[in-house]
Amino acid sequence: MKKKLGISLLIALMAFGTVSFDWNLVSAQTEEDIEQEIKELENEQLQLGEQKKEVQNNKSETEEKIEENLNEQASVQSQIDSLDQQLSDTKASISAKQGEIDATNKEINELTAQIDELTNQIEQLKEEIEVLLERITDREELLTERLRTIQRSGGALRYLEVLLGSKSFSDFISRTAAVNIMMDQDKAILESLANDKKEVENKKVTVESNKKDIESKRQDVEDNKVALEGQKNELVALENQLDEQMAERQILLAQLEEEHHHLEQYVITLEDEQRFLAQQEEAAKKAQQIAEQQLAALSQKTEGTNTNASSPNAGTGNFIWPASGSRTSNFGWRVHPIYFTKNYHGGVDIGAPQGTPIYSSGAGVGVVSTAEYHPSYGNHVMIVNIIDGQTYVTNYAHMSSIAVSPGQQVEQGQVIGYIGSTGDSTGPHLHFEIHLNRYLGVNPNTTNAVNPINYLP
Ligand SMILES: [Zn+2]
Repeated sequence: MKKKLGISLLIALMAFGTVSFDWNLVSAQTEEDIEQEIKELENEQLQLGEQKKEVQNNKSETEEKIEENLNEQASVQSQIDSLDQQLSDTKASISAKQGEIDATNKEINELTAQIDELTNQIEQLKEEIEVLLERITDREELLTERLRTIQRSGGALRYLEVLLGSKSFSDFISRTAAVNIMMDQDKAILESLANDKKEVENKKVTVESNKKDIESKRQDVEDNKVALEGQKNELVALENQLDEQMAERQILLAQLEEEHHHLEQYVITLEDEQRFLAQQEEAAKKAQQIAEQQLAALSQKTEGTNTNASSPNAGTGNFIWPASGSRTSNFGWRVHPIYFTKNYHGGVDIGAPQGTPIYSSGAGVGVVSTAEYHPSYGNHVMIVNIIDGQTYVTNYAHMSSIAVSPGQQVEQGQVIGYIGSTGDSTGPHLHFEIHLNRYLGVNPNTTNAVNPINYLP
């Protein structure tokens, strides 16, 4: 038997606390005793009825809680669905925003390429201007040199002489013309160069203005990119927030699911309790019948022969070993062999081959209160004995089969079942418990279980 039982049966068997097994099957001897006993049994049945009502109320309350829990789960689930939708919307927005940012980056790159191209053009134009400036300077120098040569050779007069020294008028004309042509050519070249320079400068101004426009445009696009990144960051922050809310809701849902599981378990426990109480009621009725038969038998032999006919086991050992085999586990705290957790063992384990008979352990005659399958105990039998005025409940678990039924009277040593490994068991053995007065589960804080070794021979 493992610890699961302690939890599942603890609450179920709290109910037994207000119900006492007091019918004295063995030692009732006088009519008065038996009449008193019948009264007590009737009272017990009343108490059991009350207890059953309480359990039913408890069960209804728990079922309401389950209903509430399910409503809450549905509400949290719809919140999760809504968050899920918001999250996928936000992710789509982030991805769209990233698309815009990528487009912006592309545009910035294109504009930067254009700016580079224009910068190159400006550099070329500057060079062209330099070249033209040089040519202008050269031409001016040439012209200046020509004028200086004329002056050096006598200035205007000398120049005139050159002209007057002409051999003929036609020679004079041609000489004059030649000088004029030279001067005109110089002037024309200078003018043309100046024009070229002006044009190139104008072009440079245009290109520079163009470059400024594109730089301004790039600035706008960069500003837009900053804005887009800001928006994207906000969306990412929103996504994180939604993720957090989602995680919280999922934790909450998991908690609710766990609570739901516990509540369902509790309902099963309460159903166990209801069944156990009904069995107790049956056992009490049966005991009352037996007492009434005893009373009838007593009044028939009113002659009053020997009244001390019963209690055959008085003075002998109160309990016998319920099966032959080896003790494989003791009563009390033990370390779980696999999980190394400490847990409480409410009885002793007796290892024996499948099918070995199991005997009623308590002295005298007892009444079977429970004989059924339980998820933890497997096939188990519980027997109530009253020995020297003390009530004991013995429990025999993991049987392969049960040989008695509830309400049946059993004597010490009578076969009640056979060794098996049903319920929460890993191999054929008998799990045997002794409880004082009544069974209150095997939770170490509330149990009435005692160490069977102190009662066995
Ligand atoms: Zn055990």
